[in-house]
Amino acid sequence: MTRIAQILVAAGKGARIGGDIPKQYRAVGGVPVLKRTLDATLAHPDISETVIVVAEGDPHIAGIIAGYDNIRTVTGGATRTASVKAGLTALADNPPDLVLIHDGARPFVTFGIIDGVIEALSEVSAAVPALPIPDALKSLDGQSVDREQLRRVQTPQGFHFDKIWAAFQALDDEASFADDIDVAHAAGLDIAFTQGDPNNFKVTYPEDFAKAEAMLTTDTYIATGTGFDVHRFTEGDVMWLCGVPIECGFTLLGHSDADAGLHALADAILGAIAHGDIGDHFPPSDPKWKGASSDKFLLYAIEKVMERGGILQHVDVTLICEKPKIKPHREAMREKIAELCGLPLTRVSVKATTTEKLGFTGRGEGLAAQASATVKLPA
Ligand code: MG
Repeated sequence: MTRIAQILVAAGKGARIGGDIPKQYRAVGGVPVLKRTLDATLAHPDISETVIVVAEGDPHIAGIIAGYDNIRTVTGGATRTASVKAGLTALADNPPDLVLIHDGARPFVTFGIIDGVIEALSEVSAAVPALPIPDALKSLDGQSVDREQLRRVQTPQGFHFDKIWAAFQALDDEASFADDIDVAHAAGLDIAFTQGDPNNFKVTYPEDFAKAEAMLTTDTYIATGTGFDVHRFTEGDVMWLCGVPIECGFTLLGHSDADAGLHALADAILGAIAHGDIGDHFPPSDPKWKGASSDKFLLYAIEKVMERGGILQHVDVTLICEKPKIKPHREAMREKIAELCGLPLTRVSVKATTTEKLGFTGRGEGLAAQASATVKLPA
Protein backbone atom coordinates (compact mmCIF):
# COMPACT_ATOMS: atom_id res chain seq x y z
CA MET A 1 0.00 0.00 0.00
CA THR A 2 1.19 3.49 -0.79
CA ARG A 3 2.32 5.30 2.34
CA ILE A 4 1.39 8.97 2.32
CA ALA A 5 2.73 11.54 4.77
CA GLN A 6 1.91 15.21 4.98
CA ILE A 7 3.86 18.26 6.01
CA LEU A 8 1.85 21.19 7.31
CA VAL A 9 3.76 24.44 7.07
CA ALA A 10 2.87 26.62 10.04
CA ALA A 11 6.10 28.44 10.76
CA GLY A 12 4.74 31.91 9.99
CA LYS A 13 4.93 34.52 12.71
CA GLY A 14 1.82 36.30 11.56
CA ALA A 15 3.29 39.75 10.99
CA ARG A 16 0.93 40.29 8.08
CA ILE A 17 -2.20 40.60 10.17
CA GLY A 18 -0.44 42.60 12.83
CA GLY A 19 -1.65 40.79 15.92
CA ASP A 20 0.48 39.01 18.49
CA ILE A 21 -0.96 35.65 17.57
CA PRO A 22 0.32 34.18 14.29
CA LYS A 23 -2.49 33.85 11.77
CA GLN A 24 -2.53 30.05 11.81
CA TYR A 25 -3.44 30.15 15.50
CA ARG A 26 -6.17 32.74 15.24
CA ALA A 27 -9.64 31.29 15.58
CA VAL A 28 -12.26 31.15 12.87
CA GLY A 29 -15.66 29.92 13.94
CA GLY A 30 -14.15 29.47 17.41
CA VAL A 31 -11.42 27.03 16.31
CA PRO A 32 -7.79 27.93 15.48
CA VAL A 33 -7.08 27.88 11.74
CA LEU A 34 -4.29 25.29 12.08
CA LYS A 35 -6.50 22.94 14.06
CA ARG A 36 -9.14 23.18 11.35
CA THR A 37 -6.50 22.40 8.73
CA LEU A 38 -5.23 19.48 10.79
CA ASP A 39 -8.73 18.05 11.23
CA ALA A 40 -9.57 18.50 7.54
CA THR A 41 -6.45 16.65 6.40
CA LEU A 42 -6.25 13.98 9.11
CA ALA A 43 -9.79 12.96 8.26
CA HIS A 44 -8.47 11.75 4.89
CA PRO A 45 -8.06 7.98 5.18
CA ASP A 46 -4.86 7.80 3.08
CA ILE A 47 -2.77 10.25 5.09
CA SER A 48 -1.06 8.23 7.78
CA GLU A 49 1.40 10.62 9.37
CA THR A 50 1.89 14.34 9.82
CA VAL A 51 4.84 16.61 10.41
CA ILE A 52 4.01 20.18 11.38
CA VAL A 53 6.71 22.77 10.79
CA VAL A 54 6.52 25.53 13.41
CA ALA A 55 8.48 28.62 14.32
CA GLU A 56 11.24 28.30 16.88
CA GLY A 57 9.88 28.42 20.44
CA ASP A 58 6.28 28.34 19.18
CA PRO A 59 4.17 28.43 22.37
CA HIS A 60 0.86 27.59 20.67
CA ILE A 61 1.46 24.28 18.91
CA ALA A 62 1.34 22.04 21.99
CA GLY A 63 -2.24 23.04 22.63
CA ILE A 64 -3.20 22.27 19.03
CA ILE A 65 -1.75 18.77 18.77
CA ALA A 66 -2.64 17.53 22.26
CA GLY A 67 -4.67 14.36 21.89
CA TYR A 68 -3.68 13.51 18.29
CA ASP A 69 -1.58 10.48 17.30
CA ASN A 70 1.18 10.32 14.69
CA ILE A 71 1.97 14.01 14.68
CA ARG A 72 5.48 15.34 15.01
CA THR A 73 6.60 18.93 15.06
CA VAL A 74 9.87 20.32 13.78
CA THR A 75 11.30 23.81 13.86
CA GLY A 76 11.29 25.68 10.58
CA GLY A 77 13.87 27.93 9.03
CA ALA A 78 14.11 31.51 7.80
CA THR A 79 12.30 30.81 4.51
CA ARG A 80 9.48 28.56 3.40
CA THR A 81 12.01 26.51 1.49
CA ALA A 82 14.11 25.98 4.65
CA SER A 83 10.99 25.13 6.64
CA VAL A 84 9.79 22.53 4.15
CA LYS A 85 13.29 21.07 4.03
CA ALA A 86 13.15 20.65 7.82
CA GLY A 87 9.85 18.80 7.42
CA LEU A 88 11.24 16.53 4.71
CA THR A 89 14.30 15.84 6.85
CA ALA A 90 12.04 14.60 9.63
CA LEU A 91 10.42 12.13 7.22
CA ALA A 92 13.64 11.00 5.52
CA ASP A 93 14.64 8.38 8.12
CA ASN A 94 11.61 6.29 7.28
CA PRO A 95 10.58 7.77 3.95
CA PRO A 96 6.95 7.57 2.82
CA ASP A 97 6.10 6.92 -0.82
CA LEU A 98 4.34 10.23 -1.27
CA VAL A 99 4.38 13.50 0.61
CA LEU A 100 1.73 16.21 0.52
CA ILE A 101 2.98 19.64 1.54
CA HIS A 102 0.17 21.89 2.70
CA ASP A 103 -0.17 25.39 4.11
CA GLY A 104 -1.32 25.31 7.73
CA ALA A 105 -3.51 28.32 6.97
CA ARG A 106 -5.65 26.59 4.31
CA PRO A 107 -8.35 25.02 6.47
CA PHE A 108 -10.92 24.55 3.70
CA VAL A 109 -9.01 21.85 1.80
CA THR A 110 -11.31 19.02 0.73
CA PHE A 111 -10.96 15.30 0.10
CA GLY A 112 -11.59 16.06 -3.57
CA ILE A 113 -8.53 18.32 -3.78
CA ILE A 114 -6.36 15.80 -1.89
CA ASP A 115 -7.60 12.88 -4.00
CA GLY A 116 -6.88 14.79 -7.20
CA VAL A 117 -3.27 15.32 -6.16
CA ILE A 118 -2.78 11.71 -5.00
CA GLU A 119 -4.29 10.31 -8.21
CA ALA A 120 -2.09 12.51 -10.40
CA LEU A 121 0.99 11.18 -8.57
CA SER A 122 0.37 7.75 -10.10
CA GLU A 123 1.41 9.35 -13.41
CA VAL A 124 3.81 12.15 -12.51
CA SER A 125 6.36 13.07 -9.82
CA ALA A 126 4.71 16.29 -8.68
CA ALA A 127 1.15 17.61 -8.62
CA VAL A 128 -0.41 20.92 -7.67
CA PRO A 129 -4.04 22.00 -7.36
CA ALA A 130 -4.66 24.97 -9.60
CA LEU A 131 -7.38 27.30 -10.78
CA PRO A 132 -7.79 29.29 -13.97
CA ILE A 133 -7.65 33.06 -13.73
CA PRO A 134 -11.01 34.61 -14.57
CA ASP A 135 -9.86 38.23 -14.94
CA ALA A 136 -7.97 39.63 -17.91
CA LEU A 137 -4.30 40.15 -17.07
CA LYS A 138 -1.96 43.02 -17.94
CA SER A 139 1.70 43.45 -17.31
CA LEU A 140 2.72 46.77 -15.73
CA ASP A 141 3.80 48.12 -19.12
CA GLY A 142 0.23 47.66 -20.32
CA GLN A 143 0.72 44.53 -22.37
CA SER A 144 -1.97 41.89 -22.30
CA VAL A 145 -0.90 38.60 -20.77
CA ASP A 146 -2.51 35.41 -22.02
CA ARG A 147 -4.33 34.15 -18.96
CA GLU A 148 -5.05 30.83 -20.68
CA GLN A 149 -1.38 30.06 -20.14
CA LEU A 150 -1.49 30.90 -16.44
CA ARG A 151 -2.88 29.24 -13.34
CA ARG A 152 -3.03 30.24 -9.72
CA VAL A 153 -1.83 27.41 -7.55
CA GLN A 154 -2.77 26.14 -4.12
CA THR A 155 -1.71 23.44 -1.72
CA PRO A 156 -1.43 20.55 -0.90
CA GLN A 157 1.35 20.14 -3.41
CA GLY A 158 2.14 16.44 -3.74
CA PHE A 159 5.36 14.68 -4.61
CA HIS A 160 7.05 11.34 -4.85
CA PHE A 161 9.03 11.61 -1.65
CA ASP A 162 12.35 10.40 -3.06
CA LYS A 163 12.20 12.89 -5.95
CA ILE A 164 11.37 16.00 -3.93
CA TRP A 165 13.75 15.01 -1.14
CA ALA A 166 16.57 14.75 -3.67
CA ALA A 167 15.57 18.12 -5.14
CA PHE A 168 15.66 19.82 -1.74
CA GLN A 169 18.95 18.17 -0.76
CA ALA A 170 20.53 19.58 -3.90
CA LEU A 171 19.60 23.17 -2.95
CA ASP A 172 22.00 25.72 -1.46
CA ASP A 173 21.28 26.63 2.15
CA GLU A 174 20.12 30.12 1.11
CA ALA A 175 17.84 28.90 -1.67
CA SER A 176 14.36 30.39 -1.43
CA PHE A 177 11.49 29.38 -3.67
CA ALA A 178 7.92 30.67 -3.73
CA ASP A 179 6.59 27.17 -3.14
CA ASP A 180 7.52 23.51 -3.43
CA ILE A 181 6.33 23.07 -6.99
CA ASP A 182 8.93 25.72 -7.84
CA VAL A 183 11.60 23.48 -6.35
CA ALA A 184 10.24 20.52 -8.33
CA HIS A 185 10.26 22.60 -11.50
CA ALA A 186 13.83 23.73 -10.93
CA ALA A 187 14.81 20.08 -10.49
CA GLY A 188 13.16 19.17 -13.78
CA LEU A 189 10.42 16.97 -12.30
CA ASP A 190 7.29 16.31 -14.33
CA ILE A 191 4.36 18.26 -12.90
CA ALA A 192 0.59 17.86 -13.23
CA PHE A 193 -1.99 20.52 -12.51
CA THR A 194 -5.03 19.16 -10.69
CA GLN A 195 -8.38 20.68 -9.81
CA GLY A 196 -8.15 23.41 -7.16
CA ASP A 197 -11.05 24.98 -5.31
CA PRO A 198 -11.75 28.69 -4.78
CA ASN A 199 -12.68 27.92 -1.15
CA ASN A 200 -9.24 26.44 -0.53
CA PHE A 201 -7.82 29.91 0.07
CA LYS A 202 -5.04 30.80 2.47
CA VAL A 203 -6.41 32.63 5.48
CA THR A 204 -3.96 35.51 5.59
CA TYR A 205 -5.48 38.98 5.57
CA PRO A 206 -8.26 40.36 7.79
CA GLU A 207 -10.73 40.03 4.90
CA ASP A 208 -9.78 36.34 4.61
CA PHE A 209 -10.69 35.84 8.25
CA ALA A 210 -13.99 37.60 7.65
CA LYS A 211 -14.64 35.36 4.62
CA ALA A 212 -13.70 32.24 6.59
CA GLU A 213 -16.04 33.25 9.43
CA ALA A 214 -18.85 33.84 6.97
CA MET A 215 -18.25 30.46 5.31
CA LEU A 216 -18.37 28.67 8.63
CA THR A 217 -21.47 30.44 9.78
CA THR A 218 -23.28 29.59 6.57
CA ASP A 219 -23.74 26.23 8.22
CA THR A 220 -27.07 27.45 9.50
CA TYR A 221 -30.66 27.27 8.43
CA ILE A 222 -33.55 29.68 8.49
CA ALA A 223 -36.70 28.47 10.20
CA THR A 224 -40.09 30.14 10.20
CA GLY A 225 -42.71 29.37 12.84
CA THR A 226 -46.32 30.44 12.96
CA GLY A 227 -48.64 31.03 15.90
CA PHE A 228 -52.36 31.63 16.29
CA ASP A 229 -54.43 32.60 19.30
CA VAL A 230 -57.98 33.65 20.13
CA HIS A 231 -59.43 35.26 23.23
CA ARG A 232 -63.02 36.15 23.98
CA PHE A 233 -64.02 39.70 24.91
CA THR A 234 -65.30 40.29 28.42
CA GLU A 235 -66.09 43.15 30.73
CA GLY A 236 -63.21 45.24 31.89
CA ASP A 237 -61.37 48.51 31.39
CA VAL A 238 -57.99 47.78 29.90
CA MET A 239 -57.01 45.29 27.23
CA TRP A 240 -53.39 44.19 26.90
CA LEU A 241 -52.44 43.61 23.30
CA CYS A 242 -48.91 43.12 21.98
CA GLY A 243 -47.59 44.25 25.36
CA VAL A 244 -49.45 47.56 25.22
CA PRO A 245 -52.40 48.57 27.47
CA ILE A 246 -55.42 49.81 25.51
CA GLU A 247 -58.12 51.63 27.48
CA CYS A 248 -61.11 50.54 25.46
CA GLY A 249 -63.70 49.76 28.11
CA PHE A 250 -63.59 45.98 27.65
CA THR A 251 -60.93 43.33 27.86
CA LEU A 252 -59.92 39.81 26.84
CA LEU A 253 -60.86 36.80 28.90
CA GLY A 254 -58.03 34.46 29.82
CA HIS A 255 -56.02 32.90 32.55
CA SER A 256 -53.02 35.18 32.10
CA ASP A 257 -53.39 38.77 30.91
CA ALA A 258 -54.85 37.19 27.73
CA ASP A 259 -52.59 39.13 25.36
CA ALA A 260 -53.45 37.18 22.22
CA GLY A 261 -50.83 39.09 20.20
CA LEU A 262 -47.94 38.07 22.42
CA HIS A 263 -49.33 34.54 22.78
CA ALA A 264 -49.42 34.07 19.01
CA LEU A 265 -45.93 35.54 18.76
CA ALA A 266 -44.49 33.33 21.51
CA ASP A 267 -45.99 30.29 19.78
CA ALA A 268 -44.52 31.38 16.44
CA ILE A 269 -41.06 31.59 18.00
CA LEU A 270 -41.46 28.21 19.72
CA GLY A 271 -42.66 26.84 16.39
CA ALA A 272 -39.50 28.00 14.63
CA ILE A 273 -37.42 25.91 17.03
CA ALA A 274 -39.99 23.07 17.17
CA HIS A 275 -40.26 23.46 20.92
CA GLY A 276 -43.94 22.86 21.58
CA ASP A 277 -46.33 25.68 22.45
CA ILE A 278 -46.88 28.01 25.38
CA GLY A 279 -49.62 25.72 26.71
CA ASP A 280 -46.92 23.06 27.24
CA HIS A 281 -44.59 25.36 29.11
CA PHE A 282 -47.16 27.51 30.94
CA PRO A 283 -50.19 25.26 31.54
CA PRO A 284 -53.39 27.29 32.12
CA SER A 285 -54.17 24.83 34.91
CA ASP A 286 -51.23 26.15 36.92
CA PRO A 287 -52.39 28.97 39.26
CA LYS A 288 -48.89 30.42 38.99
CA TRP A 289 -49.78 31.96 35.63
CA LYS A 290 -53.07 33.56 36.72
CA GLY A 291 -53.00 37.17 35.57
CA ALA A 292 -49.40 36.77 34.43
CA SER A 293 -47.98 39.36 32.10
CA SER A 294 -47.50 37.71 28.71
CA ASP A 295 -44.04 39.29 28.41
CA LYS A 296 -42.90 36.22 30.33
CA PHE A 297 -44.08 33.81 27.66
CA LEU A 298 -42.40 35.77 24.91
CA LEU A 299 -39.14 36.11 26.83
CA TYR A 300 -39.20 32.40 27.59
CA ALA A 301 -39.51 31.57 23.89
CA ILE A 302 -36.64 33.93 23.02
CA GLU A 303 -34.50 32.37 25.75
CA LYS A 304 -35.10 28.93 24.21
CA VAL A 305 -33.97 30.26 20.82
CA MET A 306 -30.78 31.56 22.42
CA GLU A 307 -30.17 28.24 24.19
CA ARG A 308 -30.24 26.60 20.76
CA GLY A 309 -27.63 29.06 19.47
CA GLY A 310 -30.26 30.72 17.32
CA ILE A 311 -30.93 34.35 16.48
CA LEU A 312 -34.40 35.78 16.11
CA GLN A 313 -34.44 37.70 12.84
CA HIS A 314 -37.91 38.98 12.18
CA VAL A 315 -41.44 38.86 13.59
CA ASP A 316 -44.79 39.69 12.07
CA VAL A 317 -48.08 39.85 13.99
CA THR A 318 -51.55 40.23 12.48
CA LEU A 319 -54.43 41.17 14.78
CA ILE A 320 -57.89 40.22 13.51
CA CYS A 321 -60.76 42.12 15.09
CA GLU A 322 -63.54 44.67 14.53
CA LYS A 323 -62.59 46.45 17.76
CA PRO A 324 -60.65 48.02 19.39
CA LYS A 325 -59.03 50.16 16.72
CA ILE A 326 -55.45 48.92 16.40
CA LYS A 327 -53.92 51.64 14.24
CA PRO A 328 -53.52 54.24 17.04
CA HIS A 329 -51.54 51.68 19.05
CA ARG A 330 -49.61 49.99 16.29
CA GLU A 331 -46.33 51.86 16.63
CA ALA A 332 -46.34 51.42 20.42
CA MET A 333 -46.89 47.69 19.87
CA ARG A 334 -44.00 47.47 17.42
CA GLU A 335 -41.75 49.33 19.83
CA LYS A 336 -42.72 47.11 22.75
CA ILE A 337 -42.19 43.91 20.76
CA ALA A 338 -38.87 45.22 19.39
CA GLU A 339 -37.75 45.93 22.95
CA LEU A 340 -38.82 42.50 24.24
CA CYS A 341 -37.28 40.67 21.27
CA GLY A 342 -34.11 42.73 21.11
CA LEU A 343 -34.82 43.49 17.45
CA PRO A 344 -34.52 46.72 15.50
CA LEU A 345 -37.89 48.26 14.68
CA THR A 346 -37.37 47.46 10.99
CA ARG A 347 -37.66 43.75 11.84
CA VAL A 348 -40.91 44.00 13.74
CA SER A 349 -44.24 44.17 11.95
CA VAL A 350 -47.70 44.59 13.47
CA LYS A 351 -50.72 44.59 11.17
CA ALA A 352 -54.45 44.56 11.68
CA THR A 353 -57.45 43.46 9.70
CA THR A 354 -61.13 42.74 10.14
CA THR A 355 -63.15 39.82 8.84
CA GLU A 356 -65.76 42.03 7.17
CA LYS A 357 -68.22 41.44 10.05
CA LEU A 358 -68.08 37.68 9.43
CA GLY A 359 -67.53 35.06 12.09
CA PHE A 360 -66.79 35.56 15.79
CA THR A 361 -64.45 38.47 15.22
CA GLY A 362 -66.99 40.03 12.86
CA ARG A 363 -69.68 39.76 15.48
CA GLY A 364 -67.35 41.38 18.00
CA GLU A 365 -67.22 38.38 20.29
CA GLY A 366 -63.47 38.22 20.50
CA LEU A 367 -60.16 38.79 18.86
CA ALA A 368 -57.73 36.59 16.98
CA ALA A 369 -54.01 37.04 16.43
CA GLN A 370 -51.62 35.27 14.14
CA ALA A 371 -47.89 35.64 13.99
CA SER A 372 -44.81 34.41 12.19
CA ALA A 373 -41.25 34.39 13.48
CA THR A 374 -38.07 33.86 11.49
CA VAL A 375 -35.07 32.42 13.28
CA LYS A 376 -31.52 31.63 12.11
CA LEU A 377 -30.30 28.42 13.70
CA PRO A 378 -27.10 26.38 13.64
CA ALA A 379 -27.50 23.39 11.32
MG1 MG B 1 -53.78 32.86 24.60
